[in-house]
Amino acid sequence: MKKADLLIIGGGAAGLSAAITAARDGHKVLLLERTKRLGKKLLVSGNGRCNLSNATIQSHRYHSDTPSFVDAVLAGYSTDSVREFLGSIGLEIVEGKEGQLFPLSLQAATVVELLEFAAREAGVEIVLECAVASIAHTKSFAIISNQGRFTAPRLLLATGSVAAPRLGGSDSGYGLTASLGHTLIPPRPALVQLRSSAPWLKTCAGVKISGTATLYANGETITQKQGDLLFTDYGISGLAILDLSREVSTRLADHAYCELRLDLLPAYPKEKLTALLLRRIDPNSRKPILLWLEGIFHKKLARALLDHTRLHAQTEAELTRKSVNTLVHAIKNLPLPIHDTRGFESAEVAAGGIDTREVDPITMESRIVPGLHFAGEILDVDGDRGGFNLHFAWVSGIRAGSNLVTAKDQ
Ligand SMILES: Cc1cc2nc3c(=O)[nH]c(=O)nc-3n(C[C@H](O)[C@H](O)[C@H](O)COP(=O)(O)OP(=O)(O)OC[C@H]3O[C@@H](n4cnc5c(N)ncnc54)[C@H](O)[C@@H]3O)c2cc1C
Repeated sequence: MKKADLLIIGGGAAGLSAAITAARDGHKVLLLERTKRLGKKLLVSGNGRCNLSNATIQSHRYHSDTPSFVDAVLAGYSTDSVREFLGSIGLEIVEGKEGQLFPLSLQAATVVELLEFAAREAGVEIVLECAVASIAHTKSFAIISNQGRFTAPRLLLATGSVAAPRLGGSDSGYGLTASLGHTLIPPRPALVQLRSSAPWLKTCAGVKISGTATLYANGETITQKQGDLLFTDYGISGLAILDLSREVSTRLADHAYCELRLDLLPAYPKEKLTALLLRRIDPNSRKPILLWLEGIFHKKLARALLDHTRLHAQTEAELTRKSVNTLVHAIKNLPLPIHDTRGFESAEVAAGGIDTREVDPITMESRIVPGLHFAGEILDVDGDRGGFNLHFAWVSGIRAGSNLVTAKDQ
């Protein structure tokens, strides 16, 4: 049986930042990671460039059943704290156009290598391919894994969420935590693509535009996002869609009817668009209506609009004021019923997780099991795109790592 002051389960951003912090404070830390390598999600983050944090961290960019928990965790841990921590492992940071922070190398692999070196240098013992199966807690924690037993008076669960199983995501952390008496807020996929079976989608699969998507659940307006909309054979993707997907997930879990209304030309208000279309009609032209519409839209999207509106007109000259109104309505309010998300397989993060009412936001210690700590995405906290999720992983990891010392010394 191996002993340590602190056992950490999970070698992602949260587990590694906690391990480095605690080990630098002189603690004997053992970090157990189920997969063959550390930081698998870090490696793909920001399309391999690793969007580490954001220059403007604000609590409204986070989502949780207990927003006050997020406020308290973030308080005092600004972007500068994260910069300082990452600087201490030797990483230079560069700021992107929308405030995203990246490693100057723009390579996620460099981040993972520096983290691993810093952890080992501080004395952290790392055990890879070590899957924790169960935890027993009496005075201390006893862990059973495929690589034997480990024990310590303190345990940090940094097992992440169920999102992206190909990158180590699993529900095992939830099960381990539940076995210790904690409550799970059901996880839902977030930052994920959406499924729809609208027949016109197949026609325009592969087309990307810049538009606006408004989400309605049971007829009520929920949210609106502007940005890329990418039509696909399964439904819809793009940055605007990822940004509203957690709301869709949550509403679908409540069995609400979800529909997006797409504005394909947000720069053209209804009146301006109507005037444009009317102005484009030559009453003497025999130009096919599809070609006429191709003057404005990608060919596939023009086809999809005609499939959806089923106009009687065949040529430009046959277009009436009524058919223009029908077209304008479709362009500004194209309905897209959503029946599902693409699930945890494709999700970047999970909404939901361990109920944060049961966790102290200053020490990240359980209010139910003394000596048990949490950090990162296992908790019921998810952030927007732009580095917010990794920021939370670093901050909660650093908090857990530094407050373990305080707790032990008391
Ligand atoms: C494709 C993709 C792109 C992303 N891009 C960004 C981005 O650009 N910016 C951003 O801020 N966020 C991004 N995220 C989200 C971000 O990567 C995560 O929120 C963050 O990495 C979570 O860190 P974590 O340490 O809590 O969990 P994880 O990184 O998931 O680490 C948990 C670790 O625990 C291990 N583990 C689980 N169960 C056990 C067990 N029983 N025994 C032992 N080990 C176990 C897992 O193998 C895993 O390595 C992205 C996510 C994905 C999937």
